[in-house]
Amino acid sequence: MTALHRLDPVADVGGPHQPLLEVRDLTKHFPVRGGLIGPKPVARAVDGVSFAVAKGETLGVVGESGCGKSTTARLLMRLIEPDSGSLTFDGEAVGTRLGLSLRDLRRRVQMVFQDSYASLNPRLTIADSLAFAPMVHGVSRRDAMEVAGDLLGRVGLDPTSFLGRYPHELSGGQRQRVNIARALALRPRLVILDEAVSALDKSVEAQVLNLLVELKRQLDLTYIFISHDLNVVHYIADRVLVMYLGKVAEVGPVEAIYGRPAHPYTRALFSARLSMDPDARTSAAPLQGDPPNPINPPSGCRFRTRCPHATAVCAEREPAPVDLGGGHVVACHLHEAAHA
Ligand code: SF4
Repeated sequence: MTALHRLDPVADVGGPHQPLLEVRDLTKHFPVRGGLIGPKPVARAVDGVSFAVAKGETLGVVGESGCGKSTTARLLMRLIEPDSGSLTFDGEAVGTRLGLSLRDLRRRVQMVFQDSYASLNPRLTIADSLAFAPMVHGVSRRDAMEVAGDLLGRVGLDPTSFLGRYPHELSGGQRQRVNIARALALRPRLVILDEAVSALDKSVEAQVLNLLVELKRQLDLTYIFISHDLNVVHYIADRVLVMYLGKVAEVGPVEAIYGRPAHPYTRALFSARLSMDPDARTSAAPLQGDPPNPINPPSGCRFRTRCPHATAVCAEREPAPVDLGGGHVVACHLHEAAHA
């Protein structure tokens, strides 16, 4: 048994059919300057987002910058406090008196960010960075150092060569491997990867993606994989959630989202993507312009100002999610009549 495996993983509670994470109506509005008269203006970064993550899956989250993907990730970790909404982790409500404490949540859920250098303390050796969290959780220094060596080996770095180094002595790819190792040090069940491979060269990116796939298998992990790169998400995700201006536009299995995108925004997003597969190319017009200001988003459907199919009802009423079958759900009025 390896040092890492001696650290008890948090036990499964609800069995394979209970979602690992359920998110209900998550909302975060950030106050902005201005508005001396009347209500204070807010940026509606995340506005009533609901979804679930099944045990063992990789949920890809895509959308243009500013759509709320990264704010959603920080809300899931409770790095920022939501205004409203609920999180349930393996059946336990998060942050309630009788539910899961934030300390327990942060053992179960870990995050890897895009900036590999800023994520590591420059004054700590790699060994100390990796051993820190296990020691905080009561593991002896000797055992924590053994865990650090085990973790480095798992992410493809030779412990004898890397344990004593400092972050500035590593390449970007090596530092991101260390960040992944550090995220695994407490045996989390869910890892949120926020643009975690986006800053890497393409060849290094492919190696790190393969590493993530292997670690998920070895350690029974579940991933939320946030990326603006649709090709990378296609490669790694089982299901995909598409966000637009703080809302969920569409969610479904990766084959459905990439093969039969139902939301005009998803189709436009994908039309800009280079595909080697002629069957995967879409004929939708690419996205024009920038998303509207989240301080004063359009009424009804938020995509209506850029949507080629918008009608009067799109301005009057927000579209409700429509189940297209097989877990494929879209929020667009075009589909309501067909599935009524
Ligand atoms: Fe376009 Fe209307 Fe569908 Fe929104 S609801 S995506 S505006 S057709």
